[in-house]
Amino acid sequence: MATIHRDGDLDLLDGKVAVVGYGSQGHAHALNLHDSGVNVVVGLREDSGSRRAAEDAGLDVASIPEAVRGAQLVAILVPDHVQQGVWEQEVAPNLEPGAAVLFAHGLNIHFGRITPPDGHDVIMVAPKAPGHRVRELYVSGAGTPGLVAIQQNASGRALELALADGVGIGCGRVGLLETTFAEETESDLFGEQAVLCGGVPALVQAGFDTLVEAGYQPEIAYYECLNELKLIVDLLYQGGYEYMRYSVSDVAEYGDLSVGPRIVDDAVKQRMREVLEDVRSGRFAEQLFADDAAGRPGFAQLREDGAKRAAEIERVGKELRDLAGIQGLLGAEAHGVG
Ligand code: NAD
Ligand code: MG
Repeated sequence: MATIHRDGDLDLLDGKVAVVGYGSQGHAHALNLHDSGVNVVVGLREDSGSRRAAEDAGLDVASIPEAVRGAQLVAILVPDHVQQGVWEQEVAPNLEPGAAVLFAHGLNIHFGRITPPDGHDVIMVAPKAPGHRVRELYVSGAGTPGLVAIQQNASGRALELALADGVGIGCGRVGLLETTFAEETESDLFGEQAVLCGGVPALVQAGFDTLVEAGYQPEIAYYECLNELKLIVDLLYQGGYEYMRYSVSDVAEYGDLSVGPRIVDDAVKQRMREVLEDVRSGRFAEQLFADDAAGRPGFAQLREDGAKRAAEIERVGKELRDLAGIQGLLGAEAHGVG
């Protein structure tokens, strides 16, 4: 069984903690630590639209260099693709000797885009939930599960420091699972690509398209292939495969068991292995960051192609969600899978 911690010594965070960025994870991290009694300063760009929100929430706000100076711990919670630039220009030149550096995702460290000097602890505290849930649950007295990892242990107590932070943001109330930067980064990228954001939505759309192309009403196809997915996922989430199979009809269970393996067969699994290899070898990260550096031409094309493919399911989905009063949230709350 994995090593799961629930305790940490908050007194280890007796100095200043700089939280750089006030987006999804940044606002939750800063507010939860602040409410746990830690001295938090939020570091933001001068022109940041988040400054007002952070100040209104009662937090101290400073420029990134000012926040980093004098901090014992610096949490880098800006988007992954800007971290390297923020690190090089604003964080690294102002880092105190011995200050710890914290990430909520291992991408930049694992693929060598950020390499803090030897004298600094490099730790990860990654809540396994979107930032607004991390905040909401903390306020309600509950917590979210989190991951902790140590990349560099300069102080000899990097894990204790990570646990203190994890407890401070409320993850200790559920559990802080020990991992490594490599495991967190690779499994996270693979999971979002093959299953969560890539695989499942593509499966839903293929099912929807198959029905519509065969002449079924798009509204029926939408309810069947997308809307009901939530109900099935809720059952899996609550009680696993056995509970889902207990809850659906025998006809559905027979179809599940006899047809599921025909749809997601060995060829799919073989391609999943290839996707995992692209992640592990760094090929995916290389492509992603090269495209980003070029101003994201590839990303723009992918978005355009994706929107075209999804045009029909999106059109029907919007109509049916409007009927039901179902709405997505925009802004910091929109961020889900990190
Ligand atoms: P985000 O997109 O919500 O963060 C945006 C914030 O970063 C802005 O509010 C601003 O304060 C700052 N920012 C944006 N661009 C900047 C720039 N160019 N220079 C300086 N500051 C800038 O980010 P997020 O989703 O909270 O991700 C932060 C980290 O947390 C990432 O490493 C991410 O992988 C990780 N993570 C996110 C989630 C999630 O649910 N969103 C979950 C787990 C881990
Ligand atoms: Mg993720």
